[in-house]
Amino acid sequence: MKALVIHEFGGPDVLRLEEMPNPEPAAGEVQVRVSAAIVARTKDVAARAGKPPFAPQIPELPHVLGAEHAGVVDAVGSGVDHRLIGKRVSVSAVLSCGDCRACRAGREEACASFSLIGVHRHGSYAEYCTAPVANVRPLPDDIDFVEAAAMAANGPVARAQLEAGGVGRDSTVLVVGAAGALGSTVAALAAHRGAQVIGVDRLAAKPGCLDALPLTTALDGDSPDLAQQIRAAGGSWGIDCVVDNLGLPVLWNAYRDSIADMGKIIVSGAVSHAPISMHLLPFYLHSQSLIGVRTGNRQQMDAFWQDVTDGFRLPGAMIHGVSWEAAADAHRTVENGTSLGQAVLLVGA
Ligand SMILES: [Zn+2]
Repeated sequence: MKALVIHEFGGPDVLRLEEMPNPEPAAGEVQVRVSAAIVARTKDVAARAGKPPFAPQIPELPHVLGAEHAGVVDAVGSGVDHRLIGKRVSVSAVLSCGDCRACRAGREEACASFSLIGVHRHGSYAEYCTAPVANVRPLPDDIDFVEAAAMAANGPVARAQLEAGGVGRDSTVLVVGAAGALGSTVAALAAHRGAQVIGVDRLAAKPGCLDALPLTTALDGDSPDLAQQIRAAGGSWGIDCVVDNLGLPVLWNAYRDSIADMGKIIVSGAVSHAPISMHLLPFYLHSQSLIGVRTGNRQQMDAFWQDVTDGFRLPGAMIHGVSWEAAADAHRTVENGTSLGQAVLLVGA
């Protein structure tokens, strides 16, 4: 098969299209003929550049990157229902042991030996990829592979974030980095749940970047009076839930004082790695919570695909399919922060 292979860590041009042996599905696994694979900021782009957290966890080079993907089941390993062959599916990249305390509680995302397709084993930047059958979900007929890969990557974790944040019909939600792959999914899914959604991103630097999202308010993260704008947008009660997948101190300081009583801050990313300071006195006096969400688990994956069956769709403007021959360009765009929503490689095209 053909695959995008890295023989060394470095710039986007280390991605090389070459021949590799086909993977074989092990017991309990499926082999998928890949049509679409996401370009993930941390799992793919940072790892390719040799950066933590995932580059040091790649067992050996050469390596095939590629996490969540979509395609058609081509073969199955022993113990897997043969009727899956030929089915259109999405595939989650999260691998768990099934036996630790977290897994037994249905919290696979917190597994003691958590690992990822595309990091700890060869991934989906390839014509064929194998995965445990538990990671596979059938696709509704009207969801194409590019949309499916984007949904598989961001939908379950977006669902996990909104569940952790208690977001429902009357909630006011602030999404930081709302033009990003996960941010745009969270914003759209929060609106689908009936919440009022305030989106923050770099409006002046990326004009129109939030136009496709169902927001009640779009704010520029570079605005000098961002804190006042967030306070105004939160109304008299304040913000019930902040979803922050960036962890930038300047934005934290801008929204921190606008969080409502019982409000929650949900974190699934920390681009800057910079520490954030926090006063505990107002935090407990207002019964607030700060919750880390690593990613979605299988229950949230099922719940998310039920949302899709019930009519949830990502705005088309936030998904960009790119030929895998242009993978280096796609990596460059994600790396320099100019990409909008989710970039997806068209594998084999
Ligand atoms: Zn486990």
